[in-house]
Amino acid sequence: MSYLYSTKQDCLNCKKQFESLKVRSKNCIVTHKDSDFCTYYKDAANPYFYEVFVCPDCGFAFTNNFSNKISDDKREIFRQKVTENWYKRQKYSFARNLGAAMEANKLALLTAKIVDEKSWVTAGLALRLGWLYRYQKKQEEELKFLTIARNLYLNAYENDGLRGYESPEINIIYLLGELSARVGDYDEAIKWFNKVTEHETKELHKAIVNQARDRWQDVRNELKKA
Ligand SMILES: [Zn+2]
Repeated sequence: MSYLYSTKQDCLNCKKQFESLKVRSKNCIVTHKDSDFCTYYKDAANPYFYEVFVCPDCGFAFTNNFSNKISDDKREIFRQKVTENWYKRQKYSFARNLGAAMEANKLALLTAKIVDEKSWVTAGLALRLGWLYRYQKKQEEELKFLTIARNLYLNAYENDGLRGYESPEINIIYLLGELSARVGDYDEAIKWFNKVTEHETKELHKAIVNQARDRWQDVRNELKKA
């Protein structure tokens, strides 16, 4: 597959090195983007499919956002819960279809839960899984994972902190509004969209502020209909 290239990863858990594929960025062609940033790509050259690295030896599944500090206690719990039931497989080191990407993402969510990853990291995995269900048009599962993502982002914003989060804070506030709107929590959505338009960095992020205004209006219209 010429749109893929191989990278070497060191497992954060067992330290063994393995190969994982990535999509060449020049081959990633965006066809469409949803209001919660879910992006659609032409053909199978979808970077979402390759974000999770799965160690073929121990089953540890992680992304670039994971912490490399794992306590001995957590390693032991991971060994008991996952590695003992894991048969060694290279499957995730090959080209992935949507199904394989979803499995890898679920493994990463499980891993994140066991090692108690930061809320925003786990939220990102849940959001991605929700989007992959959206690709499949499975709305019930999509909304389940969007709800999990919203609640974890809320915990990140209010308690856990955003240390290492790759985007400006205003993005997470927008997402809190957007995901609340999508799961039907309209009052919450209004609250967070308002926070976006009043944010201290609003002058720097006009695109997202305008998007929040549009989505605020959409939610108001939904409320009027109800
Ligand atoms: Zn490993």
